[in-house]
Amino acid sequence: MNSEGARLHSLVDLDDAELERQLLKAGNLYPTQSRSGRELFDANGNLPLSAEEKDEMIAAVEQKFSEIFDVMRIDRNDPNSTDTPFRLARMWINELFAGRYSAAPKITVFPNRRQVGEIVISKGIKVMSVCSHHWQPISGTCAIGYIPRDKVIGLSKFTRIVEWFSRRGQIQEELGEQIADFLVEILDPVAVGVVIDSKHYCMIARGVEAHDSSSMVTSVMRGELATNPALRTEFLQLIAQQ
Ligand SMILES: [Zn+2]
Repeated sequence: MNSEGARLHSLVDLDDAELERQLLKAGNLYPTQSRSGRELFDANGNLPLSAEEKDEMIAAVEQKFSEIFDVMRIDRNDPNSTDTPFRLARMWINELFAGRYSAAPKITVFPNRRQVGEIVISKGIKVMSVCSHHWQPISGTCAIGYIPRDKVIGLSKFTRIVEWFSRRGQIQEELGEQIADFLVEILDPVAVGVVIDSKHYCMIARGVEAHDSSSMVTSVMRGELATNPALRTEFLQLIAQQ
């Protein structure tokens, strides 16, 4: 094993607390470029790839999944497992992590001609994501409210924005922040709020205390929703109504 390999192997042996301590002390402990010299980025980051680059990535991931099957002693002569490495690779790149590799959705912004100054809300937006810690599904809904300043967007666009940020390795807190930041950037609204309520399958599938009714709620408030408690209460009441 070369020294780089030995170093990475020793990192794997550290417990979480020690790894965090080392990380704070030393900065990046892991490479920031892939072996083929490509930029590595956060699980919930974004770097659009061409169709050819995605196909190349799927082929490489399929190869690695076949190796995992070998390590886990899964016989691919079992017809249910024969093509699973390919299905897994395609699913991770084209679906579960699609938002990492695709360009931002094109959002048309319209002038706020009627000078709407009330909170506009869209709720029940589907969230289908993956937790970065365990690569297990996160499934739930998102409510978004905003008070326009000079610009408005069609409410259906929220669905595409949530989808784009969800289809990555995420932690729910950062997912809400990313959606709010994006809306602030394209709309410059007076206020924006993003509330996500979801189930984490790493909680449901693991551990003795796990049960499928546990859910996680996070909220991000920007602008007047962050500073005006009465407005925040109104928003939270409106999204709680059926
Ligand atoms: Zn998790």
